[in-house]
Amino acid sequence: MAIVECASCKRNVIPRSDGGCPSCGASTAGATVVPVHHGDPAEASAWRRHEEEKRARMDAARLLQARGNQLTVAGIGLAALGLVISVASFLAVGTDGEGRYFLWTGAVIAGISMLVRGRGLIAEAKKLED
Ligand SMILES: [Zn+2]
Repeated sequence: MAIVECASCKRNVIPRSDGGCPSCGASTAGATVVPVHHGDPAEASAWRRHEEEKRARMDAARLLQARGNQLTVAGIGLAALGLVISVASFLAVGTDGEGRYFLWTGAVIAGISMLVRGRGLIAEAKKLED
């Protein structure tokens, strides 16, 4: 099974079992055989290294993405919890104006900062994947 240059579409193809070009369908009978060389071992190992680095980068990106998603969800949850508890505390005081309520601003601020950090991690992960 040789690689030939299709005379019709000029692509390097492996002919179908009926001899037709898999790209354009023209017959590849008599087409020029494209010589295939073994790669340079140094080049092959450079490609392997490149692939390994890419895989490591993708793994790191996946971890960052997962961590970013967790932080984003937890941040939204914490901020929402802070708001709900603050509003509930305020409503529990009643309309007579007596009593104390508290605003859990710390939870809202911490939640928003977690959300921002989470979005940042996701953006970093996206950069790694490019
Ligand atoms: Zn062709």
